[in-house]
Amino acid sequence: MSNIRFDALKAAFEHRPAAVEVPEGKVKDYFAQNVFTREKMKEYISQDVLDQLFDDVDNGRTIHRDIAGVVAIGIRKWAMDHGATHFTHWFQPLTGGTAEKHDAFFTLGKSGELLEEFSGDSLYQQEPDASSFPSGGIRNTFEARGYSAWDPSSPVFLIGDTLCIPTVFVAYTGEALDYKTPLIRSTAVLCHAAREVCGLFDKTVKHVHANLGWEQEYFLVDESLYAARPDLMLTGRTLMGHGSAKSQQLEDHYFGAIPQRVLAFMRDLEYEALRAGIPVRTRHNEVAPNQFEMAPIYEDVNLANDHNLLVMSIMERVAEKHHFRVLLHEKPFAGVNGSGKHCNWSLETNTGVNLLAPGKNPYQNLQFVTFLVNVLMAVHRHNGLLKASIVSATNEHRLGANEAPPAIISVFLGKQISEVLDKLEHASAEEAIIINAKKEMKLGVSNIPEILLDNTDRNRTSPFAFTGNRFEFRAVGSSANCGAAMLALNAAVAEQLMMFKQEVDRRVEAGEPKERVLFDIIRNYIVACKAIRFEGNGYSEEWKQEAAKRGLDCETSAPLVIDRYLAEGTIRMFQSTGVLNEAELHSRSEVKWETYAKKLQIESRVLGDLVINHVLPAAKRYQTMLLNNVQTVKQVFSAEETASLNEMDYSIIRQIEHHSVAIFKGVEAMTEARHKANRQPDERSKAIAYHDNVLPLMADIRDHADSLELIVDDELWTLPKYRELMFIR
Ligand code: ADP
Ligand code: MG
Repeated sequence: MSNIRFDALKAAFEHRPAAVEVPEGKVKDYFAQNVFTREKMKEYISQDVLDQLFDDVDNGRTIHRDIAGVVAIGIRKWAMDHGATHFTHWFQPLTGGTAEKHDAFFTLGKSGELLEEFSGDSLYQQEPDASSFPSGGIRNTFEARGYSAWDPSSPVFLIGDTLCIPTVFVAYTGEALDYKTPLIRSTAVLCHAAREVCGLFDKTVKHVHANLGWEQEYFLVDESLYAARPDLMLTGRTLMGHGSAKSQQLEDHYFGAIPQRVLAFMRDLEYEALRAGIPVRTRHNEVAPNQFEMAPIYEDVNLANDHNLLVMSIMERVAEKHHFRVLLHEKPFAGVNGSGKHCNWSLETNTGVNLLAPGKNPYQNLQFVTFLVNVLMAVHRHNGLLKASIVSATNEHRLGANEAPPAIISVFLGKQISEVLDKLEHASAEEAIIINAKKEMKLGVSNIPEILLDNTDRNRTSPFAFTGNRFEFRAVGSSANCGAAMLALNAAVAEQLMMFKQEVDRRVEAGEPKERVLFDIIRNYIVACKAIRFEGNGYSEEWKQEAAKRGLDCETSAPLVIDRYLAEGTIRMFQSTGVLNEAELHSRSEVKWETYAKKLQIESRVLGDLVINHVLPAAKRYQTMLLNNVQTVKQVFSAEETASLNEMDYSIIRQIEHHSVAIFKGVEAMTEARHKANRQPDERSKAIAYHDNVLPLMADIRDHADSLELIVDDELWTLPKYRELMFIR
């Protein structure tokens, strides 16, 4: 009898490190080789057109069609010079990931002749037949069509023979059907609001921009073993599997050398990423076996997000060459760490000042404290929304489990910054500001000018941590589009900064001295948002109770967390910042609920198949072997002797019976619960039914299957085990 697991193991052991195709030479020789950079544009497009284009892009203005037409011709020429035959509008649907539809660079003329064509129009805008992308009802209510339109702030690039044009994806009526559109809107409104606040400190600041540096975690699994696990193939995670005797307890993987076969993969991956203009710099092992991380140098939020999505697809492609599969799922294996995508976020002025870093003089430090405290206020007021922005069926397995992130959003500041805020809180205005004759300002209560941050002061259990010159939003899931989290954060901070500025202006106009007003408001803020600050262990039971007392959002059920998108304060905030209107918010939550229910539906079906088609047959086969053995033993040995000889067999036979019956009944109940869930009248109730009624049954079934894995003859077991999936490379 053949066993697919043994065939897979044999194939996996035969896989050797693949040859790496990185050319000799320096990174600068191939960095951004596949990108139509501003530098390269100069070769293909006239300077006056470029001046106009760059000016529009840099100031967030719409590109004129005539300009787009000329640029399109340059883009096509460059792409074809580099072997491109097709082009695609590359967009970010609400399902996650990216979508593309490829068209060839030619069309037929009137008399059937072949024309190489790529007009400004097709660069600028397309109408992909995208009716199957989720819109959460937007396109039913308004108008069936969806358009993709060029985002000129992100450069076009080549993947193989295809020119990729980053685009937004919107409905006919302008409602966003993607993540990119509101991300761009949120960045614009945030940067505007931040610049206004900067104006209180430094009139020379013309622009502020938001930066994102992501850290992408992932698992690698041998492709043969992957192919023998239907759950990995169809859901991206293992739905069952007993923990390996050795897993991450020694933490030896984290510090260990990167295995040769993985290193070969990483080097090819980095080469491809660098050629695509993604400035990847860091690679290392992560805590769990076969878990790794890559991180680039931070960039503008919108571009960084495009680059993250691009890297996720490059990874999958490169992995195939190395006989690996990349698991981007947040929790591919129970019992070991899951994967996240830390989003490092900061604000920077055109004068090169990082607004979230302590400055060189007292004035800059006051500015720093102002921005820091405004971020705290925004996170405090919208902690429920921020959680909603990262929640999903897949990330739910990390939330609330004993690993980052806890299902409660709080902010870690570190000892020094906490002390600064505490001192400011308790100082009187007179103590706080000493303005000398030269109008130079000093912070009397603390030596903020001397702030030298201690970077070792880290708290790994915090979902949102200040790390010296930026905030690190750690709750984002590894498979997510970071845009969802970033646009919520951007918008919340923008709203907060606008309110702050209004209050300052009002009081200064009424005749109060500016410095005094600033301190006064900051002090009030420090008091108002205290509940969001937490320096302790975010995983502890005490924190859950404490957080509830503080009024923080402690909901753990993903479908209910999604409700936060429709909270009154959320709708008001998104509307006042112009980032999302009410219809868009409704559509987003609909899509989230729908996706949640569908993912669970698939998982539940796959689990049913696995236990019925793999687990029970193996268990029954082994049980039959044991039963036969009992019979044979009886024939050979005396009754006294068989009593003890058969004891072990009987025990295992009974255990198999117990778990098999439980699995069988569990699957029946789960199928029934699923059917009930499917009959719910709306997406929200459906998602809730899956969460409340299907998920717990899946966990039960899994427990029994995992128990069987421990007792059934290894030779009969057809699914690669955890120790094989996680340790073979
Ligand atoms: P770690 O957080 O693990 O110590 P790093 O210091 O290497 O890792 O930084 C992680 C990420 O944070 C990288 O993508 C890096 O570019 C990014 N980063 C560093 N400084 C900033 C900043 N000021 N704004 C945004 N991202 C930043
Ligand atoms: Mg980090």
